[in-house]
Amino acid sequence: MFTIPNLALLDIAPAVAALLGCEQAITHLYRTAETGYVCTVCGEPANLTDTAPAAVVVLAYPDGPHVVRLAHAGCSDSGIIAMTDDPTDNPAVLFPAMAWLRPADTTPAPVVVIAPRIYGMRVAANGDTTDTLTANLLGYGFDLLSHPEAPMPDLDAATAYLGADATLTLTDVADEVLWSGVLDLPDAWTNRARADRRIGVIFAAGLALDGDGDRLADLFTAIGDGRAVAACVELDTATAEPI
Ligand SMILES: [Zn+2]
Repeated sequence: MFTIPNLALLDIAPAVAALLGCEQAITHLYRTAETGYVCTVCGEPANLTDTAPAAVVVLAYPDGPHVVRLAHAGCSDSGIIAMTDDPTDNPAVLFPAMAWLRPADTTPAPVVVIAPRIYGMRVAANGDTTDTLTANLLGYGFDLLSHPEAPMPDLDAATAYLGADATLTLTDVADEVLWSGVLDLPDAWTNRARADRRIGVIFAAGLALDGDGDRLADLFTAIGDGRAVAACVELDTATAEPI
């Protein structure tokens, strides 16, 4: 066991502590967190303080290094995350996604489901759980998705671009990339998206999109549990035409 003062403020999973190996490394990390860090989940600068705890996240690359990162304790639990690519080049690594075509009479029918691989879940005194990322997205203009076929609020603060190679990119009003990745897009999804020029975006917490399970069943469970938020965004048609 390590005995470091105030270590409760720094969430370190046992597997992460074992990887770091020694008390010195953890103390160094603690001092770094106090001095200031950039949260690896939300990208905001932060400091470890009495009221703002941090979590140690290790990104493990297949052939490369184990990268130690810090995150707001509310943005991620501590843990080791198996990486397949560099998140600075490919945000889809931390946020896997899939396309889903809802029934034809829903609006919007074509949606992209994004499931953060790392996220924080807090349990309030009354037993309610709050996912921090979901809470942030509610502030951004997303709404809780009450039912898989429910309508979604229009969100002007984000735009989707669909490239000819099935790369979907979500940007904010300042053209900053919120998410980008290559999706497996059925023709029916693409045709409807191009016709409507709008798509839905669902963020679902605690959903394993790269697992072997029934992903739609898991998504419906997440929606039923109030772990999914959604919004309808404009699909830029200038880049959505086939080349
Ligand atoms: Zn954060």
